Amino acid sequence: MAVLLLQCPKCKNKMKYESRMAFVSTNRKRCVYCGASFVVRGRIITPQN
Ligand SMILES: [Zn+2]
Repeated sequence: MAVLLLQCPKCKNKMKYESRMAFVSTNRKRCVYCGASFVVRGRIITPQN
């Protein structure tokens, strides 16, 4: 299972995310650095294979 990289829209830090969860369009993640919550799907910075 691939691990994607997400970038927080607020603090710009990057964090890992399991790809099997990324394709649910409503999924949100809380940034581990600043605590901001954002929609996962639009924040993937690694290509999806
Ligand atoms: Zn953040």
